[in-house]
Amino acid sequence: MSYIGHENIKDELNKVVKSGSISHAYLFVGKDGIGKKKVALDFAKDILCLANVDGHACGKCDACLKFESNPDLQVLIPEKGAIKVDSVREFTREMFLLPTVSNRKVFIIDEAETMNEQAQNALLKCLEEPPLYASIILITSNKEKLLRTIKSRVAEVAFDSLSKDEIKKILEENNVEVLPEALDYANGSAKKAMEYTNDDTIEISQELFKLVLKRDFLELNRKFEQVKADKKLKEQVEHILENIMHLCFYALKQDVTFDYKIIELLEKTIQKIRRRANVDLALDVFMLDICKV
Ligand SMILES: [Zn+2]
Repeated sequence: MSYIGHENIKDELNKVVKSGSISHAYLFVGKDGIGKKKVALDFAKDILCLANVDGHACGKCDACLKFESNPDLQVLIPEKGAIKVDSVREFTREMFLLPTVSNRKVFIIDEAETMNEQAQNALLKCLEEPPLYASIILITSNKEKLLRTIKSRVAEVAFDSLSKDEIKKILEENNVEVLPEALDYANGSAKKAMEYTNDDTIEISQELFKLVLKRDFLELNRKFEQVKADKKLKEQVEHILENIMHLCFYALKQDVTFDYKIIELLEKTIQKIRRRANVDLALDVFMLDICKV
């Protein structure tokens, strides 16, 4: 287990594998993008390994070498936003076939909250009487959407948000530039931090923000003209303004003196664009108003 964060959970799961007291069903709960699935896959690898060392996968046995194609590991993910009842039925049929490579089988259901009631009921049967060799790991960021009958049959593992330091390390390991405001924006989710940093509107948003901060409204106007003239940027103008707003909030947190009215103007303009106002006009009004602040 080499990735970052959730040390306490990883320790607990390791103890479980070491002692052989693996439960039949787990529910991994926590925000999106914090590594729940990674933990689940590593846990599965440790469970399926044929010669694990101190509860950790050996990396050399058949089960470890073929981990991703090991038929004893099944991963179910939503298709078009939902896990269908038919997929769950297929999944449960699979569960009652004996393991072929490993001594156990692991079934992971990611974004389990996307199962509707019918699909969850189809799963219930294996949660009630699972075969001895099977472990099911449900992963969710919204356990409220799971039936009480499901929740009462699983061991819940609650994941904390990642710390800024942990997110920073994850970004560095993935060779993603660490923007300080991205750590703030991420709100505990490495995925959100990556999305922010890889967002192709960040550069222009930062340029616009700097001009706002410098109160260089002439140049700001020129830049907005560029945005208006660029079809792709113009389509993303709402997102760009949201980025600028986030940068404003971040600046405030860093004790940068800043007129709060500017944030209000940004908010107002975003609302207008959301209500499908004319973008050119909304930006023109924004420019007129900001000059008065
Ligand atoms: Zn192994």
